[in-house]
Amino acid sequence: MSLFSMFSNDLGVDLGTSNVLIYADGKGLVVREPSVVAVDKNTGKILQVGSAARNMLGRTPGNVVAMHPLRDGVICDHELTVKMLQSLFRSAIKTSLFNPKPRVIISVPSGVTEIEERTVINAAIEAGARRVYLIEEPLAAALGAGLDISGPSGHMVIDIGGGTTDIAVLSLNGVANSASVEAAGDAFDEAIARHVRRKHGVVIGQVTAEEIKIQIGCVWPRPEDITMSVKGRDAKTGLPREILLYSSEIYEVLRRPARMITDEVLHVLEETSPELVGDIAQNGITLTGGGSQIWGMDQLIADRTAIACTIADDPDFCVVYGCGKAIGWINDTL
Ligand code: ADP
Ligand code: MG
Repeated sequence: MSLFSMFSNDLGVDLGTSNVLIYADGKGLVVREPSVVAVDKNTGKILQVGSAARNMLGRTPGNVVAMHPLRDGVICDHELTVKMLQSLFRSAIKTSLFNPKPRVIISVPSGVTEIEERTVINAAIEAGARRVYLIEEPLAAALGAGLDISGPSGHMVIDIGGGTTDIAVLSLNGVANSASVEAAGDAFDEAIARHVRRKHGVVIGQVTAEEIKIQIGCVWPRPEDITMSVKGRDAKTGLPREILLYSSEIYEVLRRPARMITDEVLHVLEETSPELVGDIAQNGITLTGGGSQIWGMDQLIADRTAIACTIADDPDFCVVYGCGKAIGWINDTL
């Protein structure tokens, strides 16, 4: 063992629009935080990062704003991203004289521009990384889901995150074809909040909308119609009001954003070579990402494509596990 690898503290990072996850070499998953930063508008000072900042969402005093430094998988606020990574790197590892700065592998969506790649690299370096390596997200997702994509046989991975759904066809450790659509977890939350306001005259926040989605939401009819009582603010009187929502009702609301996802999947299949489509039909489609856990997504996609569809184990963690596996590659090759 070289001196270097004895002190290795390399990190695999899934820098998502909704969540940042960090895998530390030899330790496993060490950070899982929402990608949210709370900032004091007056001073520009960063108050909180991650779940502490997220808890401030919707209940912050006027001068405090909770911001998402990433949008649609790419950095939209450089400064905030640097600060967020700095804080999360610090909780992931202890750097010291004997512990050099970490090498970091970060996943980026397929099809990002060179400028966007540069932005990610610079942000990680500024946040304290010694070297930065990028890995295409679908590749990381497939690795983390335990798929063997090293051979010529084609696989399809659909990663449903917060901001985007990323659909990719993989073979020979590469991305053969991919597409991204802005219909994913957040779009479901927004559709629910809009419906509750229009149909019930009650205003609910983003966090409540997400709870409704997770508890009773579905994109394929549930065998039993379940209910949830929800508190919000009456749009007219401004007073608190409680309403009862049904899963069948939410199903109707989510049909449209869910359809945007399945339409894009069909589109990608249409554009893929018949050989690879044949492989995918045989291998099945794999779902990853937090948003893939919405009730019935696997049934819906299987129904529309007539291809078997499975949700990976620990779908939230596939990308970061894949980045973690890729740490082994840099150790082997560099
Ligand atoms: P990103 O890669 O964009 O950071 P994630 O893969 O972490 O996103 O997924 C975040 C999305 O997953 C959010 O929209 C969240 O509401 C959704 N999500 C998490 N758990 C569930 C669940 N059990 N059911 C439905 N959606 C879920
Ligand atoms: Mg993701």
